[in-house]
Amino acid sequence: MKIKFILLIVVLFAIISCTTVAITGRQQFTIIPESEMNAMSFAQYNQFLDSSEVVNGTKEANMVKTVGVKIQKAVEEYFAAQGMSSALNGYQWEFNLVNDETINAWCMPGGKVVFYTGIMPLCRDEAGVAVVMGHEVAHAIAKHGNERMSQQMVVQLGGMALSKALEEKSETTRQIYMTAFGLGSQVGVMLPFSRLHESEADEMGLIFMAMAGYDPNTAVTFWQRMADLGGQKPPEFLSTHPSDETRIKDLKKLLPKALQYYKP
Ligand SMILES: [Zn+2]
Repeated sequence: MKIKFILLIVVLFAIISCTTVAITGRQQFTIIPESEMNAMSFAQYNQFLDSSEVVNGTKEANMVKTVGVKIQKAVEEYFAAQGMSSALNGYQWEFNLVNDETINAWCMPGGKVVFYTGIMPLCRDEAGVAVVMGHEVAHAIAKHGNERMSQQMVVQLGGMALSKALEEKSETTRQIYMTAFGLGSQVGVMLPFSRLHESEADEMGLIFMAMAGYDPNTAVTFWQRMADLGGQKPPEFLSTHPSDETRIKDLKKLLPKALQYYKP
């Protein structure tokens, strides 16, 4: 009886909580209120920046900001044209470069982006930065963080506890955020996204960079450079996730679609 009831609650949540991802049209399950998601994300982001060496005023730092703002504007224009601007309420975009040799970049929910100086030589120029930026912005726009956390909450809490946790904005909710993002003991180390989320971010990112005026063909050469690196890569760019080869093959397939959005 109890299990049936919990299942019912979960199903109800699922029905009322299905949203559609822009560009790909995929249906997803998100239950965390965006305001709450962003509040947790912004607090974590600020904590990360406080404990990191943020680079300001260099050519590279400016490049990250320039490309970030261009992609942000392009996405906002696209959403406005589709009459979906309200979906971007609550985003507070920020594009920071942090001094760290790790080859990495990530974006927390609500548009909080970090590039590590270690990835800049691979990016080489603005178009290369746009490949990574488009991908990271896509994770935020597609609300992959909320989706991952929602799944964890259902798995860990089940129906009643879930609604209670959401109502009370409890410590449990915060703990699950930390688990979902892997920001606990190692600050700033994001857990890898699923293969589905990675592929979706690649697809959307390719289109976002094209919308912002960057040649999407650059994505293929960027991932080839990444593949040539081999060996150890940080979670966000693990070669198995999907493999570089699959990634490049899929990106090539998506190029004709992305080029339709490309305005040089
Ligand atoms: Zn990713």
